[in-house]
Amino acid sequence: MVTYAHILGFPRIGKDRELKKTVEAYWAGKIDKAALFAKAKELRAESWRLQKQAGLDFVTVGDFSFYDHILDMAAMLGVVPERFGALQADENVDIDTYFRMGRGRAPTGKDVPALEMTKWFDTNYHYIVPELNAEQNFKIASSKLFDEIEEAQQQGHNVKPVIVGPLTFLWLSKSRDEKVNKLSLLDNLITAYGQILNKLQALNIEWLQIDEPILSLELPQEWKDAFEATYTRLKQPKLKVLLATYFDTLGQNTRLVCQLPVDGIHVDLVNGANQLISVLDNLPNYKILSAGVVSGRNIWRADLSKTYETLSQIKDRIQDRLWISTSCSLLHCPVDLQQESKIPHDLKSWMAFSVQKLDEIVILAKAINQGPSSVQVCFEESDNAKLTRQQSKKIHRDAVKEKMAKVNAAMLSRKSTYQTRAKVQASALNLPLFPTTTIGSFPQTTDIRNLRKEKREGRLTEQAYTQAIQAEIKNAVKWQEEVDLDVLVHGEAERNDMVEYFGELLDGYAFTQNGWVQSYGSRCVKPPVIYGDVQRSKAMTIEWSKYAQSLTKKPMKGMLTGPVTMLCWSFVRDDQPRKDTAMQIALALRDEIVELEQNGIQIIQLDEPAFREGLPLKQSDWPMYLEWAVNVFKLATCGVKDSTQIHTHMCYSEFNDVIESIAALDADVITIETSRSQMELLEAFQAFKYPNEIGPGVYDIHSPRVPSQQEMTLLLEKAAKVIPAQRLWVNPDCGLKTRNWEETKEALIQMVNAAKTMREKLN
Ligand code: GLN
Ligand code: ZN
Repeated sequence: MVTYAHILGFPRIGKDRELKKTVEAYWAGKIDKAALFAKAKELRAESWRLQKQAGLDFVTVGDFSFYDHILDMAAMLGVVPERFGALQADENVDIDTYFRMGRGRAPTGKDVPALEMTKWFDTNYHYIVPELNAEQNFKIASSKLFDEIEEAQQQGHNVKPVIVGPLTFLWLSKSRDEKVNKLSLLDNLITAYGQILNKLQALNIEWLQIDEPILSLELPQEWKDAFEATYTRLKQPKLKVLLATYFDTLGQNTRLVCQLPVDGIHVDLVNGANQLISVLDNLPNYKILSAGVVSGRNIWRADLSKTYETLSQIKDRIQDRLWISTSCSLLHCPVDLQQESKIPHDLKSWMAFSVQKLDEIVILAKAINQGPSSVQVCFEESDNAKLTRQQSKKIHRDAVKEKMAKVNAAMLSRKSTYQTRAKVQASALNLPLFPTTTIGSFPQTTDIRNLRKEKREGRLTEQAYTQAIQAEIKNAVKWQEEVDLDVLVHGEAERNDMVEYFGELLDGYAFTQNGWVQSYGSRCVKPPVIYGDVQRSKAMTIEWSKYAQSLTKKPMKGMLTGPVTMLCWSFVRDDQPRKDTAMQIALALRDEIVELEQNGIQIIQLDEPAFREGLPLKQSDWPMYLEWAVNVFKLATCGVKDSTQIHTHMCYSEFNDVIESIAALDADVITIETSRSQMELLEAFQAFKYPNEIGPGVYDIHSPRVPSQQEMTLLLEKAAKVIPAQRLWVNPDCGLKTRNWEETKEALIQMVNAAKTMREKLN
């Protein structure tokens, strides 16, 4: 036996996002089913070829998906809610039903409300939430996995299939009937999984990877208890199971996982590096340990020497029972760094995308199997990259480090309490009761996007671009005055994206040309890369805000993206704690905010839509995160005078368990998304006696529907019952960049009227 090299999964989108282009062409009726399947087959073949060529011992099969791998599992198990049409006894889920489940529509059949979608653990990938009914029946209703296995075998590959485990599947599913204890469905579910495993055995599979990422969570006792029995029942005489966990340490589940009746376990030694010893101490002496040592979630080159040391340490304890792998699936990593031609040479030498990571794993396995001298050149290259990275002036900026060292407690709080500030602000701003405002962006029209394109392609001068954007701002301001909004915004016409815009202006950020990762379905994102100390060497929003303010006597709200959101939606450097990177961003924002104030901007909003997203997987790790997340917000915002009003905006639907931290931000005003829940979300603020001002969204901007004035008045009345009118603001749920002007105008006119009605009622 030797140490095997494998991965938990490869990106399915293709080097040039072929998957996106192909499924979208199919949805649009431009290609037929046969062409869709043919392209998918090509993409799989390419991904397996890359794995084999790199020298992996297995190719992983089952990671390919037309939309989402949890949706695939639902299809395989026949979990198809009635509204998508009942499945006949031996019927398989066809591709159009599958797409309808994911997105509500397909080239054939009627539109149906899609299944819900939500974030995959703490990543930016979104999975489709399977919907279970009280008597859910499970039966194999898709041959996709088995077909793909045969396809790979025919291409001469040694196949290791991957499926999502039954407990993770159940945990991530939702039951339409809230009273149903999902675990009561487990028995039937295991039977179906048993049938799947039987089939895999018949296909001569030796190793099956079963993913149970929920084992990184702090699970309720009954869920922990379910694991042992489940895996005992799933045992097959000839099929070996590698149980894969990832995204964090096993924590309190360590013993449980090590003892499960499976043949091997995979652990994340990147995001859970400190669990190695406890895992080794608990691992029975016949089990394989697959060490996830190359990150599947970032774009950084591995430190081969250091990783080799860790692996040698494992090898000393377990010999040939060691396998080497990525920490998690490479789904979260772009495909191929070789396609990047614009990244500076040194920065590129510090990076690795999925294709490069395959090589890293194989090199490490070779070093373990044949001794490090067999791959000496590779180690030297890696050491060299590490050294230049440690010493690079592009990464380490003395000025930034000095600034960080000077941060003190006084910088983390406003000069006076909210009560005092509120009085000063009231007389400075002179706003009516129920002041109206918007969240920042106005429609990003095709015209605006074309301006940016023309500038990028050199067809529009910088000056002409500025003038065109100013014209947009002028229109937006004029219109807001006409409809009589109280606090105006410039409309964010100059921003392609709320993170990218700032990243492009800050030092320490880089952008890829093709670093796409799947976000959901056919949608991909291209996160910026934070590679070095972040520094603001030029103003970012001052000129736009100043210009906008010059057009009106009403207060113009300055608009910035907060440090946590900047972090969560980027690839973040791995050579310092995330909180240090957040602090650097906060210091840059602090300077921007103070300069906005100096330029006559009296209200400044720092958006933190990702504040909750940043929460660690284990609840016991929350306090640590919340402490620094609050601190960086305060560091960014507390440099201003009492008279300057700080706003923040968050758009998600769970405040109860973080309300204390939200209050600790001490923003003068927070605007949140509440219209869809009919103000229910305000209860958290009421129960906590939230002391500052709140703008509960009264208009759901995610829908093209224009709400009536009455609807919004009703919501405001509801809000006024739980929050004193003196502290209520009136605004939409979120920014309006995805809406068109027609809807926006109509809705905002109704919104202003609703606020006026409320004022009259109170007077
Ligand atoms: N200011 C941003 C906008 O209006 C906020 C977006 C967000 O919360 N995601 O678009
Ligand atoms: Zn929002």
